[in-house]
Amino acid sequence: MLSINKDQKRNKIMENNFKNGLIKYGLKHGYIKPRKKKDNSKKTDYFSNCRCCGQYISNDYRANLDKRYCQDCLPY
Ligand SMILES: [Zn+2]
Repeated sequence: MLSINKDQKRNKIMENNFKNGLIKYGLKHGYIKPRKKKDNSKKTDYFSNCRCCGQYISNDYRANLDKRYCQDCLPY
């Protein structure tokens, strides 16, 4: 019984890895559009961390167009 559960768990993990890999691949090549999280933030909102990569943004590295992103993620 226990070994079956273990195998099921492993299968599940492998399945998830496969799915994540597929999603990553799809995102990279534009087959999949990133699902937007529902939030009410606006362009002018000030986030201390980049909304895209999650890195802390110092003031001189903030995207000009959208203050929620760093210049790596929004280089204009
Ligand atoms: Zn970023």
